[in-house]
Amino acid sequence: MRQTREVRLARWPAGAPIAEDFEIADVALPELGAGDVLVRNIWMSVDPYMRGRMYPDGAYNTPYQLGHVLDGGAIGEVLDSHSPALQPGDLVDNFLGWREAFVAPASMLRKLPATSMAPQSYLGAMGMPGLTAYGGLLEIGKPSAGETVFVSGAAGAVGSLVAQIAKNLGCTVIASVGTPEKADWLKARGVDHVINYKSVADLPTALYQAAPEGIDIYFDNVGGDHLEAAIHAAKRNARICGCGMISQYGQLGVSAAPRNLFMLYSKTIRLEGFTVAQFLGPVRRAFLRDMETWIAEGRIQYEETIVEGLDKAPAAFIALFSGGNTGKMLVKLA
Ligand code: NAP
Repeated sequence: MRQTREVRLARWPAGAPIAEDFEIADVALPELGAGDVLVRNIWMSVDPYMRGRMYPDGAYNTPYQLGHVLDGGAIGEVLDSHSPALQPGDLVDNFLGWREAFVAPASMLRKLPATSMAPQSYLGAMGMPGLTAYGGLLEIGKPSAGETVFVSGAAGAVGSLVAQIAKNLGCTVIASVGTPEKADWLKARGVDHVINYKSVADLPTALYQAAPEGIDIYFDNVGGDHLEAAIHAAKRNARICGCGMISQYGQLGVSAAPRNLFMLYSKTIRLEGFTVAQFLGPVRRAFLRDMETWIAEGRIQYEETIVEGLDKAPAAFIALFSGGNTGKMLVKLA
């Protein structure tokens, strides 16, 4: 294998990303040096946070570079190895996605554990989105049985797991999604109330009808009007897990909502932002154990939206911002 293809950032998106913001390029692979491996990616992760890396000033996160390959989570197969640590045929978790193949030091890659889990689950329920859901809900939200949890983006990679973990812990769960099919998927998994935010006249009223006594925890994947409605519905001493704000990613810094932040102190609400990186270590070890058990017992079910081929990766990314996925958005490479 001498050649590969990769997805590059062609220009900075203005608002929501569009196809012209990306280009596919052919690239020659280098020879393997001592300690290197040649890997063919099989699965690529498609994640909303990548939009935050498409601002040239790095306001949200380390920016991508124009004309350069994107990166992101991927699962690949080792084809050739100059390292004793990895053998051809090994599956590796890597952060060199958005390309079909690469040469890299084996030390940059993590061999997948020998489990019965599907390899791509390590990009979803068993990977970064799963740890985000688990760590964000348990460590930031600190739920107790009987409490009411509201989660937005609730049929997505993170939100669908938050909803089910909260049910497993004995909470009442209210979920917000953008289609009737996503609402049905959640109701079939025991979620108590599902709001289709695109079909209700008024989100605060819909939330009040689902939880007249208020909510104890809000797991925020959306920001904007969802965060404002959650602050409005929050009980005294409520906790808000600040995971993400996908409704704001095309317009960072110009949000019209929330307009009711004063309620944070009048209701002594704790709003705490977090990143998944803070849960590496003991929380991740507990997560891997619990999530594998819950999946094996059928107490967590995960969904995947799969598109095939590197050429479709930009469209898969764009679709995240219009609700084109249920569960984890993945690209499968030939
Ligand atoms: P996802 O939910 O699988 O995909 C995005 C979903 O968001 C879409 O399917 C869509 O579903 C919804 N959405 C898109 N635009 C929206 C809008 N304007 N208003 C309301 N909903 C909208 O993505 P994910 O990977 O699980 O990520 C969810 C959130 O967690 C994102 O904000 C992401 O940035 C964040 N995140 C944070 C961390 C961290 O370390 N803090 C880690 C991972 C992810 P509907 O059809 O329901 O609209």
